[in-house]
Amino acid sequence: MKTFYTQFVASLSLVFLISGCAALQSNNSTKPLVIEAAIDLVNIQEDKVQITIRPSSLAGDEIVFYIPQIVPGTYEYSNFGRFVEDFKAFDKKGNPVAVSAIDQNSWKISAAKKLGKITYWVNDTFDGPGGEEIYPMGGTHFDSDKTHLLNLHSMIGYFKNIKESPYRLSVRSPKHLKAFTSLPAISTSDSLDVFNAKRYFHIIDNPILYSEPNAVSFDLDNIKVGLAIYSPSGTHQAAAYQEAIQEMMVAQKKFLGASNNTTSYDILLHLMDMETLRYYGGMMGALEHHTSTTVVFADAMQAAELTQNLVDVVSHEFFHTLTPLNVHSEEIHNFEYNTPLMSKHLWMYEGTTEYFADLFQINQGLIDAPDFYGRMNEKISYGQRYDDTMSFTTMSAGIVEEPYAANYGNVYQKGALINMCLDILIREKSGGEKGILWVMKNLAQRYGKDKPFQDADLIDEIVAMTYPEVGNFFKTHVEGTTPINYNDYLSKVGLTEGETQMKLPAVIFKDAQTPVFTAQYSEDNVRLFVISGLNSSLEAMGVQPGDVMLGLDGQMFPEINQENSTAINAIFNSSFMWDATKEFTLTVARDGETLNLSGKVGAPSMTVSGIVEDAEASEAAVTLRKAWLFN
Ligand SMILES: [Zn+2]
Repeated sequence: MKTFYTQFVASLSLVFLISGCAALQSNNSTKPLVIEAAIDLVNIQEDKVQITIRPSSLAGDEIVFYIPQIVPGTYEYSNFGRFVEDFKAFDKKGNPVAVSAIDQNSWKISAAKKLGKITYWVNDTFDGPGGEEIYPMGGTHFDSDKTHLLNLHSMIGYFKNIKESPYRLSVRSPKHLKAFTSLPAISTSDSLDVFNAKRYFHIIDNPILYSEPNAVSFDLDNIKVGLAIYSPSGTHQAAAYQEAIQEMMVAQKKFLGASNNTTSYDILLHLMDMETLRYYGGMMGALEHHTSTTVVFADAMQAAELTQNLVDVVSHEFFHTLTPLNVHSEEIHNFEYNTPLMSKHLWMYEGTTEYFADLFQINQGLIDAPDFYGRMNEKISYGQRYDDTMSFTTMSAGIVEEPYAANYGNVYQKGALINMCLDILIREKSGGEKGILWVMKNLAQRYGKDKPFQDADLIDEIVAMTYPEVGNFFKTHVEGTTPINYNDYLSKVGLTEGETQMKLPAVIFKDAQTPVFTAQYSEDNVRLFVISGLNSSLEAMGVQPGDVMLGLDGQMFPEINQENSTAINAIFNSSFMWDATKEFTLTVARDGETLNLSGKVGAPSMTVSGIVEDAEASEAAVTLRKAWLFN
């Protein structure tokens, strides 16, 4: 998973976090029982969808039915059972059977042997009670005749000890909406689609997007790629994004080489209107699956902005096909949806994945070196928001509980940087020949999707295939609590601290996380947004420090107070969606006059202290740097 927020919070400071996810895979012997599951998207009542589950035959006196408490890739308790209402069971003749709720995610059903079917209604997470606590990319959205986003872990459950039985899933849908999913279809028509799932995991690993047809499909060497978009305004057409996705995935395949064996990959892009984006507190991102990913962004994003976000986020999700898909521990292999045990290795599942999502872009020429250094520098600075003395392996094993849960976002910051340091260290020791990608390829070969590693042995195995110094690094900085001095590693590849141009996340920023203005009080105690810093684009428009901001792009700020924070956020939020071509106006008060300053967003940047190439670096360090970035 990968998530980030785009918003001003009530305190009027910026939140721009990146956090993330992981996937899994499990495998046991199957039983001949088939579970029939039916979803009715036609007769939606009060924004709820009815589900019917028919197990062909069960044994015993009673059985428990579960909806997941947690799903792979999310690392938090979602308790999807809380979206279920009116849970009923019937015998084979249609008579009611006694049911009792055990907790919010499980129900005990009596007379299992006689059980004919269970029925229940499901609320969607996009506006159901407490739905904003669920990651939108792992959520459900029922919008009668427009779209249905089905993350099936929030809709379909499983019977105790029967997770490995196959499912047959029937979905009745409005005629003009078409299903897009990597779940294999047995039959499709304009009003009924029937899918096959080998086991329960397969049901939740293949989300379905229903929308008016807006999809493209293309072949890259030996991988079939699909992209479907639901755009509430109809602005974004899948065909417009094909070229960028194609370029990105070709580059990823080249980077991974033979270690990638994915044969199909589907991208389900569900764009949110501003109201929905606000409901989720500005969160956007994606959740990985083995052969697809669900992505949520804002419909208001302009084309170039959406393209760059797709490249950064979908490349992260696609790299999950390496880990955890092909390299994962037993905890993930036999994932328990209702009594989970977490693995110690989020530094790899999310950290390596996130690091590769940046490294492949410089390795394959999609971004230049200063951009790559800037991304690493940003991770160093965002990482400071978390506890730098918390053992990463301890945090990972305890991630669903505090104080670890609050540090989860660091898997995308320090988690990636751990991999950068390991990469440099292994390159140094191997004379530039091997790096962390080499380690991952070896692990993928040794394990693969059907063979989990022992959680406690992974680090020893990596040390055995590399160098004792790698063992010291893990002991000190990953299992241990000593913060990493990044300069120790950057200097090995001829990098140092220096002045650099940083690309800013939006035109109202002066660095990666600070807006160009601060809230100050006037003499008569009125709160004002006063320009306190600039960037290249605002400077070119003639904005000056001390200017009082009155409005942005024609939208004037209401009185600046807590009550108006939503309205104020909405005005700022729109600027996150702009791409370089956008022309906008900033209305300011200066010396008693109101000025409308206009210009293009362009590529706002700022001179900051960051990572630069050291002009004094030794030849050996420069050679090692090239091996690190381009081998
Ligand atoms: Zn992830």
